[in-house]
Amino acid sequence: MSITANIQEVVAGLPPGVRLVAISKYQPAEAVREAYDAGQRVFGESRAQELKDKQPQLPPDIEWHFVGTLQKNKIKYIIPFVTLIHSIDSFSLLAEVDKYARKEGRTVDCLLQIHIAREETKFGFAFGECREMLEEGTWKSLANIRIRGLMGMATFTDSQEQVADEFRSLKGFFEEIKKEYFPDETGFSELSMGMSDDYRLAVGEGSTLVRVGSRIFGERRY
Ligand SMILES: *Cc1c(COP(=O)(O)O)cnc(C)c1O
Repeated sequence: MSITANIQEVVAGLPPGVRLVAISKYQPAEAVREAYDAGQRVFGESRAQELKDKQPQLPPDIEWHFVGTLQKNKIKYIIPFVTLIHSIDSFSLLAEVDKYARKEGRTVDCLLQIHIAREETKFGFAFGECREMLEEGTWKSLANIRIRGLMGMATFTDSQEQVADEFRSLKGFFEEIKKEYFPDETGFSELSMGMSDDYRLAVGEGSTLVRVGSRIFGERRY
C-alpha cells in the first residue's frame, strides 16, 4: 500500500480526540511530503540532528514532535520550532529544555516519559521517580516549558494482555498525576501511547496521541 493509503487507513480507525503522530525517522523528506500531501500535519522524529536537517526542507505548517532520547547538547537544534517533546525523562532534561526555550523566547510543550515496560532497556521515569519530581516542586518555576501529559512505551511482546495492562497502568497514573498536580489545568491532557503494532490497544486504553511509523512508511530506509 502507498503512504497515502496507509495514512488514510490509520486515521480512519482513530476515534475523535485521538491524533496521529506520523513517525518519519529514517525516512527521506519526499516520504514526509507524500504524507503531508495526504493531509497529515503532525510528524515525529527521534534524532535531533535528523530533525534539524529535515525540517527546513518541508512545509512550515508541519507540527514537529520529538519522541527519542534527547541529548542535552542537541536540544538547541530543535527548540526553535519543535511543538511537543514526548521524551522528558529527568528533571535536568526538563530544566535544560526550559533554558534553551527561554533563550529562544518560546514556551515548549513537554510530556514526561514513564517507564511502563518490563524491559530494562526502555527509558523513562519510574512512577515513584516521577511523583517525587512533581512533589519536589522546582519544575513549577520553569516558565518556558509546559507539562502537557505523559508518554510511555509498552513491552515488545506478543502478549496483548500484557501490553494492554501496561497501557492501563499508565492511564491510571495519568489520572492520579492530573488530579494531584494539575487539577485546574485543562492543559494536562495528552497521553502518548501506541505504536504501529499496538496503537489500537493503546487507543482502547485512553491514548490521545498515537506514534505510528512503519505502518505508514514501511520499513525504515536507512
Ligand atoms: C520509532 C518510534 C515509534 C514508531 O515505531 P513504529 O513501530 O515504526 O510505529 C514510536 N515511538 C517512538 C518513541 C519511536 O522511537
